[in-house]
Amino acid sequence: MSVVQITDKGVFQAGELVFGGSQVPEMLQAALDKVADAFRRYQHDPEFNDELNYYLRQYVGRENPLYYAQNLSEKLGGAKIYLKREDLNHTGAHKINNTLGQVLLAKRMGAKRVIAETGAGQHGVATATVCAMFNLPCTIYMGEVDTKRQALNVFRMELLGAKVVAATSGNRTLKEAVDEALMDFAQNSEDTFYLLGSAVGPHPYPLMVRHFQSVIGREAKAQILEQEGRLPDYVTACVGGGSNAIGLFYPFVDDLSVKIVGVEPGGQGIETGHHAAPLTAGHPGAIHGFACYVMENSENCHSIAAGLDYPGVGPEHSYYKAIGRAEYLAVDDKEALHAFLELSRVEGIIPALESSHAVAYAMKLAPTLQRTQIIIVNLSGRGDKDVAQVAEMLEDNPE
Ligand SMILES: *Cc1c(COP(=O)(O)O)cnc(C)c1O
Repeated sequence: MSVVQITDKGVFQAGELVFGGSQVPEMLQAALDKVADAFRRYQHDPEFNDELNYYLRQYVGRENPLYYAQNLSEKLGGAKIYLKREDLNHTGAHKINNTLGQVLLAKRMGAKRVIAETGAGQHGVATATVCAMFNLPCTIYMGEVDTKRQALNVFRMELLGAKVVAATSGNRTLKEAVDEALMDFAQNSEDTFYLLGSAVGPHPYPLMVRHFQSVIGREAKAQILEQEGRLPDYVTACVGGGSNAIGLFYPFVDDLSVKIVGVEPGGQGIETGHHAAPLTAGHPGAIHGFACYVMENSENCHSIAAGLDYPGVGPEHSYYKAIGRAEYLAVDDKEALHAFLELSRVEGIIPALESSHAVAYAMKLAPTLQRTQIIIVNLSGRGDKDVAQVAEMLEDNPE
């Protein structure tokens, strides 16, 4: 029996604690039920999976390498660090695995239009990309504040043919973008598919996103068995909503010898309250129609990495924490920046600031382990998008 037990409504139960599920208005529930039915129907459909695998290979560029970071490992003098190279995918991150899977499902469902939310713009770009490819009109909701902070990604989405709508309620950031996308979905579910970007939201999204991202862990497992002849001692990844992490972790979850560690953004330091680490410093609660750990004061939500800046987290991570299958800890802005610079210099790989959180943790962990031990780090994306921000930070605060 797997350590992961889920009801058919997407509820994870850990003793008294319950995560996931779906707490939404009736109209939205009807739309979600249709998505859940379609996902159930096509998830194991051979033709669907042949098509998905074709595009994963020919369009995304899978499989990507599991790279032994020998320079970094030897410099640190401990465990061997392997990097799962999601940064080498088309569009530069893991998000395309999920947008590709969901757009194929949207096609099967006969959708005439796709909508999505985006914070930093990465998911918006990945959605606009697959919609261009499959010739579906697409509307991206983005907080008005974020459209200004991430103007380049707005332009990218527009180049790809998407319409970007600024969400102007509340704080005008990701939370409001999700609210508006859900409202659009409830009102237009006849012809519209909501393509959600992380392992969060009401059922079936967390399970569907896990399903499409699990290709990361399946490949990594086969690759480490081929290269080292055994399972790793640790798998680790950064956790925003938790999609790249659950994609790596899930295929290892029943291998109890493998330690699972999720790295949250500690921002300016957990003690300052300015972070985005609900599993490290939050409490069980609810957000956007599902139950999960949430931050104490979500208005203080902050990370150096815009893609990690979410006050909630996926229900499955909440569950892994509650049952003790995974450990979650935080790495702060400074440590992430240091790892960003170190991996660039030592391995010639510029990681996304998001991924740099996981790299930073591996850099702390490796020297405490034996040279025969193995850590797999998910390099969720490349850092090209972050170089201007890093240049600015270094001007203010040289390393
Ligand atoms: C969006 C993003 C993340 C965070 O999202 P998850 O759903 O937690 O994976 C991490 N890394 C990169 C490169 C991203 O673009």
